[in-house]
Amino acid sequence: MKQSKMRLSETDKDTICALATAHGMGAISLLRVSGPKAADIIRKLAAFLPEKLESHKIYYGILRDHESGEPLDEVLVSYFQQGRSFTGETVFEISCHGSESVVNEILRNLVAAGARPANRGEFTYRAFMNGRLDLVQAESVLALIESRSSRASSLAVRQLQGTLSKKLHQIRDQVTGILAHLEANIDFASEDIEIASDKDLVARVDSVILETAEMLSSYRQGRLIREGFQIALCGRPNVGKSSLLNALCGEDRAIVTSIAGTTRDFVEAETTIAGTRVKIIDTAGLRITDDPIEKVGVHRALEKIKDVDLVFVVEDASDPAWDHSFDDFIPWDRSVLLLNKIDLKPGAQPSLDFSKRVISVLPVSAQSMAGLTELRQWIETRVRDELSEDSTVVSNARHFQGLMTLKQSLEVTRELINSGESPDLVALELQIGLQALYEILGQTYDDQVMDRVFAEFCLGK
Ligand code: GDP
Repeated sequence: MKQSKMRLSETDKDTICALATAHGMGAISLLRVSGPKAADIIRKLAAFLPEKLESHKIYYGILRDHESGEPLDEVLVSYFQQGRSFTGETVFEISCHGSESVVNEILRNLVAAGARPANRGEFTYRAFMNGRLDLVQAESVLALIESRSSRASSLAVRQLQGTLSKKLHQIRDQVTGILAHLEANIDFASEDIEIASDKDLVARVDSVILETAEMLSSYRQGRLIREGFQIALCGRPNVGKSSLLNALCGEDRAIVTSIAGTTRDFVEAETTIAGTRVKIIDTAGLRITDDPIEKVGVHRALEKIKDVDLVFVVEDASDPAWDHSFDDFIPWDRSVLLLNKIDLKPGAQPSLDFSKRVISVLPVSAQSMAGLTELRQWIETRVRDELSEDSTVVSNARHFQGLMTLKQSLEVTRELINSGESPDLVALELQIGLQALYEILGQTYDDQVMDRVFAEFCLGK
């Protein structure tokens, strides 16, 4: 099935230019120029380019101000011919020295010569519009740039290489196949052709539901890889939550103080464990209070605790106690009890009934760092357990939403077939699901289904 042939708008025919590397000083900066007039534009600055350019070749020379002829920089220019570049258009990449003023001068000259400054993501957008990437792959370019751990980048690379797209295409073809049978039922009902029985159709729908459900269940894992594993620290004021956050993240992100109730909002810090981002969130101290600001902090802490992957319930070893009014808010099956300040009272025990509910009890000291290595190891095991090496992981909320729509539509479709509804009604329902898939992949949905009818069926009359 073909990629949608969306027509490029007028502005999409502009030749665009932008700095591709980060702003600021560096050894080298890279500028990109893409579009139909790229060669004419660049030649106004780079007289050294030969008449006949070869794709994927690098040319060395002096770039000059296109009006005054003053030298701008000594550069390397790479050329990628139309159809063999990232965007699919004629592309030039200029490697210049990494000075902000050099970069600005070159950009100014490119614009004066007829290029337009690119909008955000416009190179990738063009790659998508020219069918070089589907929407899922285009999104992975962004995910790759934004990835902040080795796991997140390898997930994004797999997505860019099309692992997820391939899976989505397979599902799409299965749904189209089912729809083709339904359409055949509608269009050729009076003719004597062999069509799938309701039982066959339901079996096919079921198998797609199963695959969709599997992809949906990978979402949590995908979110973990992309956004990081979230851990909230909670407990009474002054038990050492901020100190633990700093000890785990190795930087003074949280404000440590001996006055109770100072952490009234969240303080977040990040560290990397087992190649995965781990976000540690210090919540407000949990205690019943009349202070209105502190009350808000406690309320927000309880809300936050609901969302996280793991909760560290912190107690002070020198004074183990817990306010039971917060019991119902703690997800005990996702909680670990940290008995902090163990340096003050080695061998201390937590409040008994309390320790039974959590997954584990770990004695630690944010001050002497005792037990901190064990705590990091504990987190590492947990993170590894949650993340398998499955290659098709859904990590993007848009994909998740689309797959949810597909699954619902498949479930309704199954109901409708089972209750003997007319094929056109069933087909209408299934089209909602197919549409959701097309939207994920950025393809428009047209009458391709009919093509499939003729391809799949032998009209043997
Ligand atoms: P929070 O209110 O729970 O965030 O507690 P803080 O991190 O602000 O710590 C409260 C006080 O306990 C500070 O004076 C810390 O220096 C002290 N503290 C924190 N952890 C330890 C520890 O492991 N041992 C000892 N002896 N003191 C600690």
